Amino acid sequence: MKTTGCCGTNSTAGTNDGYEVVRIEKAKNSCQLCEEYAERQKAKPVAVICCEGACLRGEVARQAANILCHSFAPEKTVRICLGGAFTKDTGQRALVRNAPRVVALEGCHVNCASRMMAGVIEGLAPEVIVADRLYEFDRKLFGIEEMPPEQIQVHARTVAEKIAETL
Ligand code: SF4
Repeated sequence: MKTTGCCGTNSTAGTNDGYEVVRIEKAKNSCQLCEEYAERQKAKPVAVICCEGACLRGEVARQAANILCHSFAPEKTVRICLGGAFTKDTGQRALVRNAPRVVALEGCHVNCASRMMAGVIEGLAPEVIVADRLYEFDRKLFGIEEMPPEQIQVHARTVAEKIAETL
């Protein structure tokens, strides 16, 4: 069945009660470095997933997640590899499944990271933070090339600071 999305695009995927069913090929390869990282990080109380979008909003969220996890709160937070956690049921997904608290940093209100992970971890209820509501900018901008890198970093830092205050 063909459906029409909000942007006028067509999809051939079936929809049932507001869900889209996705078929993902199981991973044939694994990354030993990633699995060792997951093992080392598993005692941390907050798992941080991020949408990692390629637009300006996603880039601010991505950088904010990195600043939060690697500079502001490295002892409390573990930075999740969203693709690894979503596409294979190994260490990264276990970090999200087992964390006492999961923070989902979303570039915008489409909420890709939290919707993706809720699709592979039943009952997952992350705290969703829509990053573009936490900083002031010209909301007509879309691409990362439309804002100087230094300004993107400032916004990312602002977002990371606001989340760090809640940890
Ligand atoms: S949440 Fe928004 S910015 Fe992030 S990947 Fe989805 S559409 Fe892109």
